[in-house]
Amino acid sequence: PQAAETAPGLLTINLSALARNYRALAARLAPTAAGAVVKADAYGLGATRVAPALHAAGCRTFFVAHLGEALKLRRLIPDDSRLFVLNGLLPGAEALCADADIIPVLNSLEQVANWAAAAQAQGRSLPAALQFDTGMSRLGLSDDEAQALVDDPSLLRGIDIAFVMSHLASADEPDSPQNAAQLAAMRRFAAAYPGLDICFSNSGGIFLDAGYHVALARPGIALYGGAPTGGIGNPMEPVVRLDVRVTQTRTVPAGARVGYGGTYVTKGETRLATVAAGYADGLPRHLSDRGAAYFGGTRLPIVGRVSMDAMTLDISALPEGALKLGSLVEIIGPHQSLEDVAAAAGTIAYEILTSLGQRYHRAYR
Ligand code: PLP
Repeated sequence: PQAAETAPGLLTINLSALARNYRALAARLAPTAAGAVVKADAYGLGATRVAPALHAAGCRTFFVAHLGEALKLRRLIPDDSRLFVLNGLLPGAEALCADADIIPVLNSLEQVANWAAAAQAQGRSLPAALQFDTGMSRLGLSDDEAQALVDDPSLLRGIDIAFVMSHLASADEPDSPQNAAQLAAMRRFAAAYPGLDICFSNSGGIFLDAGYHVALARPGIALYGGAPTGGIGNPMEPVVRLDVRVTQTRTVPAGARVGYGGTYVTKGETRLATVAAGYADGLPRHLSDRGAAYFGGTRLPIVGRVSMDAMTLDISALPEGALKLGSLVEIIGPHQSLEDVAAAAGTIAYEILTSLGQRYHRAYR
């Protein structure tokens, strides 16, 4: 991790808030079990810290996207927990996965065949989850592929199905008719596997009605403090705080151009502060001339373009001398939520979190 004095800013990750978010979701879901999605380095927050904290909060089912992520994480999650690879396996990775006690999600007949062959090669049955495409057209067995498994159950020989699953495309839009259509499709697919659990809801799905909870949920963003769904505000506790360092302050006259391309021209004498983080630190260039930082509740607009390792703020609203070399200004915190930053950048909280990068000093508390 970056030492504080070498880093462009301070990324504070509140593991206690994370644990409270997990327990709040688990309570809302009960008796449905709550797993946790820790792909993309736990949405950028550091899976090696986040996954053990979630385990301590009671989580026993973890999901990553790729086998590489699972291999890094497996020994950090105690053996009482299952670790699933959502994207399934590429051909040739089966033995590596099975030997490491990692469970693939099988998304196609080809992956089913490869996993069945791995089971045969190992002379034991191997666990897997079966994913069905209920309308997102992204991952999962199609109607025809699902039917092929029903017609010839021997295709699944040697595979111990942990649960059947699918993923909601529009769970953050509670009024979308796609939600009910996907749940109905999930139940149709699941009917071929009586007695098996269904794993269905992401964060948004947890806040649809309890019919969406079924047996096991897979929240991601809500654990990390992001808003799980539209229309209800954000019931989750913030987990992330980001403050960046001032590297220079100056006063410029009216008519000064600021940043690449001179997109911002000062209207009058203006006090500016340049801060040490830019788009390489996950502050999107789209925040140029749109976003802001905060200092003690005062909004400091980003003026000019965000550059790779720096951006410039208009600090005229602050008393003179309030900011100096090394001062911290808030990017994500009590005055500006993750969602506020995402909205200013024209993106979603997921993209802001997973882009934050490795240059900040990370403090876990
Ligand atoms: N399940 C799957 C298959 C996913 O791809 C994701 C994340 O995109 C999740 C669950 C978690 O979704 P969310 O972060 O919206 O809770």
